[in-house]
Amino acid sequence: MELASSTYGQTVSEETRKNGTLICVPIMGESVDKMKIDMHKAKASDADLVEIRLDSLKNFSYVEDLNSLIKECPLPAIFTYRPNWEGGMYDGDENKRLDALRLAIELGADYIDVELKAAHRFYDSIRGKELNKSKVIVSSHNYQYTPSVEDLANLVAEIQATGADIVKFATTALDVTDVARIFQITTHSQVSRVPIIALAMGDKGLISRILCAKFGGYLTFGTLEAGLVSAPGQPTIKDLLNLYNFRQVGPDTKVLGIIGKPVGHSKSPLLYNEAFKSIGFDAVYVHLLVDDLANFLQTYSSTDFVGFSVTIPHKEAALKCCDVVDPIAKSIGAVNCIVKSSTDGKLIGYNTDYVGAISSIEDVLRGEDYSKAAASPLAGKLFVVIGAGGAGKALAYGAKEKGARVVIANRTYDRARELANLIGGEALTLAELDNYHPENGMILANTTSIGMQPKIDETPISKHALKYYSLVFDAVYTPKMTRLLKDAEESGAAIVTGLEMLLGQAYEQYEKFTGLPAPKELFRKVLADY
Ligand code: NAP
Repeated sequence: MELASSTYGQTVSEETRKNGTLICVPIMGESVDKMKIDMHKAKASDADLVEIRLDSLKNFSYVEDLNSLIKECPLPAIFTYRPNWEGGMYDGDENKRLDALRLAIELGADYIDVELKAAHRFYDSIRGKELNKSKVIVSSHNYQYTPSVEDLANLVAEIQATGADIVKFATTALDVTDVARIFQITTHSQVSRVPIIALAMGDKGLISRILCAKFGGYLTFGTLEAGLVSAPGQPTIKDLLNLYNFRQVGPDTKVLGIIGKPVGHSKSPLLYNEAFKSIGFDAVYVHLLVDDLANFLQTYSSTDFVGFSVTIPHKEAALKCCDVVDPIAKSIGAVNCIVKSSTDGKLIGYNTDYVGAISSIEDVLRGEDYSKAAASPLAGKLFVVIGAGGAGKALAYGAKEKGARVVIANRTYDRARELANLIGGEALTLAELDNYHPENGMILANTTSIGMQPKIDETPISKHALKYYSLVFDAVYTPKMTRLLKDAEESGAAIVTGLEMLLGQAYEQYEKFTGLPAPKELFRKVLADY
């Protein structure tokens, strides 16, 4: 068994692939030389094959260039000469374009790609000729939307009827639920043994490019660099392999993910997938760019999809979508973790946001003195929460639960008042905060985004007011050391970073998703790169 080094340094055994789905790197160079360099880069990146996009070449003399591209390619290659009318860059004579593809076959190309609209003409022109080893992919691209399952099935039948060796269609995902139809078609094609490349383009189609490995797609595309795409929404090959553990995704792999909008910046997939890889847990955790949560949960209701983290702006909607809601989440009014029951498929909603922050604050307040571990050191303390949004509610609720006297300060006073009434506390405006110091040794928790990148010079409270606080927590974790935390440290207060909150809620969710203890050290290592 081969040994490979994982992203975070520990050595893991590289299991055999759990799927037969190939990873293809699109080669989009403007010159043949650049293409040759990129082919070798693709091989070094562990790609299975490349797609040579002949239409991206500036000067293409096909007799000469095709021969050297085919002979010097270190990987099997698909030759594609995409015309303008199918979203490509070639706007020349159609006969010459098809001549080039025929020549690629004669020269021994592994695959050529012909558009459905040109397929009959192309097949007519090669009838009776030897195809050598070449396989013909007949493709169709829809840059507007993803049709119904029925229309997609008809499209597949039409492509098959041309005599294609491999069926390819790419549609545009206007919503993440469009991808479910792609999976349906791919699964059905496995039954009828049609090799199929079925992908949804755009940010909302990302899961089609990852989970095709689970549903049996023939190949997916992974780029050499971010943005060097041949179609919208392609991930890098590095992300496919290292972030999503693509080779380890198989038919039985369970799917989890983070639901949000936006969501692409989330590091949660890295965190969970590293953890799954470290113990060989058969699951993949993906980014889920969701517009309508109820529609998403209804569409992906199968037992393949087992759990979701929920972030802005869906935490309140999540509360309404769950069949069962944990009493704490109900009190907070927000769900940030949904687990699908393996027995009856019911959705159970939790809120894990406050656990990490509150327990880290308690740990720091306790210091080395664990003798009083039973009682919370927050009991009786004056706990000032800045903000009344999702994180504010969670912190206020958590502090109250521990016996603290809670004060809410918020830009919009009415929201502060509402939350204070809910948990039984006081309300302030943000402007009143600088002069609020009824006692010494208070606890301060910022739960607004003030001080977050890129506005790292901002802070919600002036430094002179911090001397009345013995501990300051900041939910913001980019940067880890915010201006508020720096000011607090200089004022002599203890500090707790937003990273602790992030870690604490991740531990909780991991345990709920897997039923296993969270690999805390690994999580900390992964997030240390933040
Ligand atoms: P949210 O529900 O949208 O609430 C945002 C809160 O911040 C509201 O109280 C809002 O006041 C206030 N706010 C926003 N911009 C402000 C500004 N320029 N000046 C004054 N107040 C402002 O968001 P959330 O989910 O609670 O998240 C808030 C922050 O916590 C974000 O930075 C998020 O990244 C962070 N967070 C961190 C973790 C973690 O694990 N560390 C977890 C969750 C959230 P109004 O009511 O007046 O609009």
